[in-house]
Amino acid sequence: MTTIDWHQRAKDTIFSIRNMINGDLVEPQGDTLISKFAAYNGSLLYEFGEGTAAEVDRAVAAARAAFEDGRWRNKTVDERVSLLNKWTDLVEANREEFALLESLDVGKPISAALVDDISRCLWPLRTAASGLSNLLLPSGVSGNDTAYQFRKPIGVVGAIVGWNYPLALAASKAGPALAMGNTLVLKPSEFTSLSASRLAELALEAGIPPGVFNVVHGAGATVGAALSAHNDVDMLTFTGSSATGKAIMVAAGQSNMKRVHLECGGKSANIIFEDCLPDLDLVAQSVVDMAFPNQGALCITGSRLLVQDSIKAPLMEKVIALSQAITPTDPLNPDCTFGAIMNEAHMHKVLGYIDSGHQEGARLLCGGHRVNQSSGGFYIEPTIFDQVAPAHCIAREEIFGPVLSVFSFEQEEEAVAIANNSRFALAAHVSTRDLGRAHRMGQQLDAGVVLISGSTQPISGFVDLGSEPQKESGMGFEGGRKGLEAYSVASAVHMFC
Ligand code: NAD
Repeated sequence: MTTIDWHQRAKDTIFSIRNMINGDLVEPQGDTLISKFAAYNGSLLYEFGEGTAAEVDRAVAAARAAFEDGRWRNKTVDERVSLLNKWTDLVEANREEFALLESLDVGKPISAALVDDISRCLWPLRTAASGLSNLLLPSGVSGNDTAYQFRKPIGVVGAIVGWNYPLALAASKAGPALAMGNTLVLKPSEFTSLSASRLAELALEAGIPPGVFNVVHGAGATVGAALSAHNDVDMLTFTGSSATGKAIMVAAGQSNMKRVHLECGGKSANIIFEDCLPDLDLVAQSVVDMAFPNQGALCITGSRLLVQDSIKAPLMEKVIALSQAITPTDPLNPDCTFGAIMNEAHMHKVLGYIDSGHQEGARLLCGGHRVNQSSGGFYIEPTIFDQVAPAHCIAREEIFGPVLSVFSFEQEEEAVAIANNSRFALAAHVSTRDLGRAHRMGQQLDAGVVLISGSTQPISGFVDLGSEPQKESGMGFEGGRKGLEAYSVASAVHMFC
């Protein structure tokens, strides 16, 4: 197998950010430039205009026309499924190109981008296509009278997404929205803008008509705000922070009362019970895997570790050793397992949280510093704090970086109370060998998804379950059949004969 020189590939690639409006690539507008510096070495990667409301208007108008004239929604289900599958195949065929864009934009290891990011993108596209054929429609007959319900597309969907998995997040919106027959205007994060328009280009190449999938780049305050307040957008689907999710709810309410679908932040507990003692090596590895994937920038990371007192010392010894063995390094190096923080501002934000941990009296067990500074990139080593109090900032706020806060508990009820003491309720992780306890945890923890002795991926074959974030982690189904339905409305027909 030949080894790819990713640095050379990066040098050979021209990075330019273009909107996709009605099938045309056009330069983003705006008086102020957004500059993106590569996470791995701090060099300028690309620049583009911060975007304007006028571009949003043009993209929404294109999506509206594409919706109303039926060029997409009036295709048969089989035709739509076939085009979506063709598009998915094209993405897969271009996986190396996409992996490079994701690695450069986010700072994530190229090895992870090639596998994790690509599969997280292919999955929603594939399941949207396959799930569509399976949507059953309830119907009934009463005497001679017949009633039935059917689902139809909502119309123009606006999608606003964050920076940690740019390609996968775009696909998580585009897959179900397009499968159901809607048209789309996507606004990617202004910090990770490389892959979205390429995804839209491949949609065109697959045969999805112009105007169906539009992309407008720019800042949250310009493009994001204009899209969420737009009176001709029928639904706004969002993945990002809870603070922005709240702003989007306000904008939706103050404009045309568009539907909102929000996938927001998390501060997930990872609870380890003493019955795991025989599996301590495995559990220690899973704690590290849950805490630091994607440099800690994954919404469902187990960033609050709750350990039963009796096994805390031996477990933490192993967790610390594993964490100290991780070296943040150049993500374009194929051996890299832990890359850079997405940009300088976010790096300083994470370092600010580390400072607050010190200030508020938590005890640093390992890490805590910016490293590899001579590279010019933005690297922070895996960091663990013990003796974290529930009131501490690092216990309450989502850091979205490689910082783990450790708590101890004696009884199961105490673990549930600590875990549920959060304004977020996205996910929870539990390690136990006690089946009864596993079920109790599944039901008592405030979380859209509870992963028991699991990983950050759903069980293969059960991806259709879908889940709903709770509390300030958002609202609305993502994934599975209900996730598809979320991009449609139900109408009923009563036929009196
Ligand atoms: P963010 O909220 O800062 O930005 C997300 C998007 O919203 C960006 O495109 C941004 O430009 C836009 N935006 C910002 N202000 C806006 C406004 N006023 N109106 C409209 N749009 C606006 O989030 P981020 O830092 O990019 O992403 C990190 C967050 O995303 C974390 O909280 C993480 O947990 C969350 N996330 C959640 C999930 C999930 O499935 N629940 C998945 C990935 C990321």
